[in-house]
Amino acid sequence: MEERKLYVCIKCGRTFSRPEMEILPGIRCPYCNFKIIMKVRSPAVKRIPAL
Ligand SMILES: [Zn+2]
Repeated sequence: MEERKLYVCIKCGRTFSRPEMEILPGIRCPYCNFKIIMKVRSPAVKRIPAL
C-alpha cells in the first residue's frame, strides 16, 4: 500500500499533498504562502473495535 503523505500548514490549517505544494517554488503553503508546514500522515483514522 502506498502511504499518502500530506502536509498541513500551521498557519491556515489546510492540508495539501506534495504536488499541490510544488506548484509554488520552495516549500510553502499553496494557500497562504506560509513557510512553516508539517508533515502529516493520512487523515486520522481511528480504529473502532467491531462489536
Ligand atoms: Zn497556509
